[in-house]
Amino acid sequence: MSHGRTYSEQRYSPLDKIDTSNVGNLGLAWSFELSTNRGVETTPIVVDGVMYVTSAWSLVYALDAKTGELKWKYDPQVSRQVGFHACCDVVNRGVAVWKGRVYVAALDGRLIALDAKDGHVIWSTVTVDQNKAYTITMAPRVVKGKVIIGNSGSEYGVRGYISAYDADSGKQVWRFYTVPGDPSKPFENKAMEMAAKTWSGEWWKYGGGATVWDSMSFDPETNLVFFGTGNGVPWDQKARSPKGGDNLFASSIVAVDADTGEYKWHYQTTPGDSWDYDSTQTLTQADLTIDGAPRKVIMQASKNGFFYVLDRASGKLISAKNYVPVTWAKGVDPTTGRPIEIGDDHYAKGAAVLFPSAFGGHNWHPMSFSPKTGLVYLPAQEVPGAYGTDNNFGYVEGQWNTATDTTLNSLPADPKARAAMKNSFRGELIAWDPVNQKEAWRAVHNGPWNGGTMATGGNLVFQGTADGHFNAYDATTGKPLWSSDTYTSTLAGPMTYTVDGEQYVAVGAGFGSVFYLDAGFAVPVLGSPDNGRIVVYKLGGTATLPRPKLTPVGFPKPPPSTATPEVLAAGHAKYNHYCLVCHGYNAISGGVLPDLRKTPELTDAAAFKEVVLGGSHQTRGMVSFASVLKDTDAELIRNYVISEANDGYAEAHAGGK
Ligand code: CA
Repeated sequence: MSHGRTYSEQRYSPLDKIDTSNVGNLGLAWSFELSTNRGVETTPIVVDGVMYVTSAWSLVYALDAKTGELKWKYDPQVSRQVGFHACCDVVNRGVAVWKGRVYVAALDGRLIALDAKDGHVIWSTVTVDQNKAYTITMAPRVVKGKVIIGNSGSEYGVRGYISAYDADSGKQVWRFYTVPGDPSKPFENKAMEMAAKTWSGEWWKYGGGATVWDSMSFDPETNLVFFGTGNGVPWDQKARSPKGGDNLFASSIVAVDADTGEYKWHYQTTPGDSWDYDSTQTLTQADLTIDGAPRKVIMQASKNGFFYVLDRASGKLISAKNYVPVTWAKGVDPTTGRPIEIGDDHYAKGAAVLFPSAFGGHNWHPMSFSPKTGLVYLPAQEVPGAYGTDNNFGYVEGQWNTATDTTLNSLPADPKARAAMKNSFRGELIAWDPVNQKEAWRAVHNGPWNGGTMATGGNLVFQGTADGHFNAYDATTGKPLWSSDTYTSTLAGPMTYTVDGEQYVAVGAGFGSVFYLDAGFAVPVLGSPDNGRIVVYKLGGTATLPRPKLTPVGFPKPPPSTATPEVLAAGHAKYNHYCLVCHGYNAISGGVLPDLRKTPELTDAAAFKEVVLGGSHQTRGMVSFASVLKDTDAELIRNYVISEANDGYAEAHAGGK
């Protein structure tokens, strides 16, 4: 009934009517078309035969879990301009359901309680300063009559926190900040006073970051709420906390008292992070036997490439091991619990290509744990990232602040070199033994950024893929047992339920998410971004999915690129600073937002300026950049995009994408 099924968030269901012997007979029971065409990251929740799901722009749907028939829909009417501050697509990861109410966090920072019967609003509370660049994409959790919610937006200059609201009234009960504020003002609590000693410079002027944007779990025995925090802002620590320091509680796993929000313990996965190694991945509780002794643990496959097993009462490290190739650290010191870093001091001496990248060895896609096999099922990936200092960095609140030289990650112009780079991106499903910290088996996928996982009592593991499939594996051996074509990227966490004695398996599918915005060149081509769907399977299901409209998009001949190398370099820097996070490296669209290389405005400097500065596409979400860019900047960016359009056109005609 809760996100991840229970408070422990194992994403394991004991249901076993669908098992290794009959999963081959799984067929589509029904599908439901969502009203939006952006990324689908929702985990469905089913209560008494009703399924509650969310879609992009924080819409909520109540569906008959047996037939897929819509019972009601709620649209919080989020302004499309809020999407500008949602780095990682305008997604939503699901609702909480408790005592006849459905709780959803809207992208613009509202927490809303709906009547589960008809979807009418019971209360709505604004949980953030809406003048700042906060957004919310995570699912709320209900713990002891309180709705707990964090937020996103570190890079845009916000201060992270997590809050609890009374489920009945919507009144705030407690709030825990994850980074200290201005030290000239009184600290909110002793934890902030302690954390402030690990910072230097004037970090609070950038907000601090460390937002709590996804994972959480609750342990009734210790009364602790666990959550993960994101990176500090900007990414490069030299620009954030110039004298170093750990920068608590950024990139950390934190435990607070469920009743009061009081600090209990923290474990920082990446002290002084400079690589965007958020520690917001799934926090899975389990009872394991380690060295002959029963241990109550919490586990995370962190973005930084290490799999952590912690004692969940104390937060002490039990073990850590890399689950993908890691080149920024050679291990984790078992005594201090700190990573043993490799190489120069956070790329101070020069740029470096590292594993993992800011996309992480594992990201938000939920992992699962089967108490039956003792294995964790982990959507992992190997994507390199180049890091270097941005010598021209200037912090601008509300813009994308990394202080890293993002041009280092741009693609070479040569089509062969581009293809080689794309092919170097890998993704796999790893079955990980957390007791012995080693891989049990893996299934290799067609590229990175694949779906969340679910384990079941039928000894199955379910996972969707970026290339449009939903698969089942034998949980013990990894043998592929079943696969279904979803025709679109299937990234969300699956779930399973029974109605009238029949077991169903559900997953959200839809084209989008951060990888599709930033790394468009590496996105599998699956047709145009139709609306997302919820797809639901059962044994002997005979329904069919509509095939996507495969409308091949041509590449119009761009205007000739006549700008000087200096203009292109300046345009590239401006583009990467202001446009990249939505429109992608090298202006290559993953298909979610318009491909700038193909826009008619490229040929018309005045029209291009109207879009970038005049806000002529504001209602579609393309905000005006007049507060940060000048006429000359818009022209630099146009010249850069023309150059990329010419490279893309040549590549398209060389047989590439
Ligand atoms: Ca981040």
